[in-house]
Amino acid sequence: MKFNSKVKHDMSFELERLVRPNILALEPYSCARDEFKGMDAHVFLDANENPYNGPLNRYPDPLQENLKAALSSLKGVSSEKIFLGNGSDEAIDLVYRVFCEPKCDNVVAIAPTYGMYKVCADINEVEYRPVPLDENFQLNAEALLASVDAHTKVIWLCSPNNPSGNCLQRDEIVKVLRGFEGIVVLDEAYSDFSDQMPFRLMLDEFPNIIVLNTFSKAWASASIRLGMAFASAEIIGLFNKVKYPYNVNKLTQDKAMEMIKEVFKVERWCTQIRMEREHMLPALHELPIVKRVYPTDANFVLVRVTDANAIYHYLVERGVIVRNRSRVELCQNCLRITIGTQPENNELLAALRQYK
Ligand SMILES: *Cc1c(COP(=O)(O)O)cnc(C)c1O
Repeated sequence: MKFNSKVKHDMSFELERLVRPNILALEPYSCARDEFKGMDAHVFLDANENPYNGPLNRYPDPLQENLKAALSSLKGVSSEKIFLGNGSDEAIDLVYRVFCEPKCDNVVAIAPTYGMYKVCADINEVEYRPVPLDENFQLNAEALLASVDAHTKVIWLCSPNNPSGNCLQRDEIVKVLRGFEGIVVLDEAYSDFSDQMPFRLMLDEFPNIIVLNTFSKAWASASIRLGMAFASAEIIGLFNKVKYPYNVNKLTQDKAMEMIKEVFKVERWCTQIRMEREHMLPALHELPIVKRVYPTDANFVLVRVTDANAIYHYLVERGVIVRNRSRVELCQNCLRITIGTQPENNELLAALRQYK
């Protein structure tokens, strides 16, 4: 096997060499809530807050310690290895801002995948190198690593992948983690809908991994904008240095704590969605307009149809909106369909059965 300069020769991983020099040198903003953390004070005249309109008058906890403690036991990851942000989108953007020098460094990503990795690359002026998955949307680690060069700082993986829905093969993910000496981001936004063992439980084995989770899918809380990143304490420390001081507002922190107390609901929703998914796959497969139903481990399914544009517009006319992925690489004539409630799914199926 031939080695590119950023492809790993041994087990060494030097985080500092990957970080942008200005970020390494950065003296972060020190807010009032950072400076004073005592427990028994009762007069707070340190942050120019308005004394009225409690409790919303106070700045929220910049490091969301209570929420992280609750998530820590739920997710099996210690608090100092957890970052919380304004959706996964914040963590995605921070990866670029911490590691990638604009107009100089590049990132490698599977294709097709979630669109935000490329949007954030473009915003940060970082070269984005998409490497196609195979025709079954599977990862070939060697092919991916062939696009790595001395300026590749990050590799983007997503499993279960969006828009294909499938999990990437575990041994290929591990080959990427072991074969690359930069950062590997593994987006597990949909892992609650799959049976795969989540990689956030293997942080100690892979010092270069950043795992993404979100409250937007299994937790049914897309509106509160809460994303999670799990990584070594060193990587999380860099995120904390660069993020906005109060990046997760109090309403979101409080709502997330409430959700965590009702985690049984999340489990029930996931079970329900998985049952609906098992029902939808054969029902879709039977439709004459359906050419292929791709295997899925997520709360959506990619379906190849006879004419995606026409069927998409036909459904819009009937007030049913799916995602037309026809113009995405390897997804010609494909619709991405979210699994909804049973009545919603039945309405979709009924409409598709009547399509001529
Ligand atoms: C939906 C989705 C997310 C969630 O993003 P948020 O900003 O947390 O809402 C993250 N990654 C992938 C691949 C997704 O499909």
